[in-house]
Amino acid sequence: MPARDSRGRPGLNPGRRNENADFTCIRCKRSITANAFGTRHRNHCPYCLWSRHLDDEPGDRQSLCRNPMEPIAIEVRDGGEWAIIHRCTGCDKIGVNRLAGDDHELALLAIALRPLARPAFPLDILDGARGGGWGAVP
Ligand SMILES: [Zn+2]
Ligand SMILES: [Zn+2]
Repeated sequence: MPARDSRGRPGLNPGRRNENADFTCIRCKRSITANAFGTRHRNHCPYCLWSRHLDDEPGDRQSLCRNPMEPIAIEVRDGGEWAIIHRCTGCDKIGVNRLAGDDHELALLAIALRPLARPAFPLDILDGARGGGWGAVP
């Protein structure tokens, strides 16, 4: 009697055959292999972290937008896991994506540190806060 579990589970995966296709990064043009540790839906470049708007729902590859998605921020989840926030340059859709195991740490740090490297207010107000302000005992 032939094994049934290894192959035939009819109806579970219609139309998902290209899910893990290799691709060329839309931003830095490196060629990316789709199989990476830590994700089932590799959708961003491990070097520059840019993505592409392919999904309406995670992994469905049904979006007609197809514009580049810029990595704009890092989210820290419960337990310390990081996720990348992407914003589509075409339609402004926001997406949250898990890291892949081979994402480059420096590229991730560059995004995480961006607001600290470019504060929207002068940092010397922190000096002023030491003498009174925030840390003062009433
Ligand atoms: Zn890239
Ligand atoms: Zn889009």
